[in-house]
Amino acid sequence: MQKLAPCSAFSEHSRGRQYAEDSPSYRSEYQRDRDRIVHSAAFRRLEYKTQVFVNHEGDLFRTRLTHSIEVAQIARSIARELELNEDLTEAISLAHDLGHTPFGHSGQDTLNACMKDYGGFEHNLQSLRVVDVLEQRYAEFPGVNLTFETREGILKHCSRKNATELGDVGLRFIEAKQPGLEAQLANLADSIAYNNHDVDDGLRCGLITVEQLREVRLFSLQCETVKKLYPALDDRRIINETVRRMINYLVVDLIETSRDRLRDSGVNSIDDVRNYPEPLLMHSEAVAKESLEMKQFLRRNLYEHYRVLRMSKKAEAVISKTFQAFMDDYRILPSQYHELSSGLTDKTESERARIIADYIAGMTDRFAINEYRRLFEPGELT
Ligand code: MG
Repeated sequence: MQKLAPCSAFSEHSRGRQYAEDSPSYRSEYQRDRDRIVHSAAFRRLEYKTQVFVNHEGDLFRTRLTHSIEVAQIARSIARELELNEDLTEAISLAHDLGHTPFGHSGQDTLNACMKDYGGFEHNLQSLRVVDVLEQRYAEFPGVNLTFETREGILKHCSRKNATELGDVGLRFIEAKQPGLEAQLANLADSIAYNNHDVDDGLRCGLITVEQLREVRLFSLQCETVKKLYPALDDRRIINETVRRMINYLVVDLIETSRDRLRDSGVNSIDDVRNYPEPLLMHSEAVAKESLEMKQFLRRNLYEHYRVLRMSKKAEAVISKTFQAFMDDYRILPSQYHELSSGLTDKTESERARIIADYIAGMTDRFAINEYRRLFEPGELT
């Protein structure tokens, strides 16, 4: 059994599930959550969803699936060291991106614009909707019926308006409270993972260069060390050595800073953590600054690189035209959605839009491209 700090989440004190179930045999509640997430269809679809690079651009780039696994790996190492609940941390990490649309952020922004008159679209909220409603696996309830703590962790942010409609997990956004430490950790591990793997992927595909990255302290610090230690090392291994050291540097800083804060704050239970005026897990000020500098570098040089933007434009077209085509005539939705949508007379336009958004958000990149072709290219089979 893992040794847990008093301020961590204890499976036996969970606030429970929306639909009451017997406790699992030989597993904790959070292990069961993790297992349900891994067995979900939405989890499998992460394999073909873009992180930054569209899936067909290359086999070596991160996808949402490998990203989620990297987040879980980083978060679990830190959880073990801080004596936080590893199973819960893993469950939240693996589920955090389940609601992502195809084509990364441009997909989410486009779908949000399409849904502007119908309550909007937010991937974070959608992740919760996937586990609460959209997965259909069990006889006795919709969704996969996860514990409160995992759901709390999945819902990283949320508008006040949405929060009021979400019941228990929405409450903390209204009361300005913190989530549990495992949720805070998964969130920080998410940014450690993507900052580092985006550097790696960006270099691999040549959209950014080591030369450019020299201006970023987080990178140059580690890269100089590697070059001094191994002057004859080839470029690829210099990059790998640098990235792994950057991850380690961030992880160590997060552990040490958070450990001090946890000790100094005197928190003694998960409720103390929730009531604390600010998040307790964080980087030191200096490293937070370096990390921000890296994020800004990646935005300027990678996410806004013309080749990434071109792909984003295509994604925009695919998603907005597909959405519009279904809104114009719901009868061209696949039959199972057609049935959902065509209770018609009793469905409002807004409800129909939500069904369409759920359908589109669930698509993988390649499914979305194929669906677009089937809808708009006369030569394609329907
Ligand atoms: Mg993520």
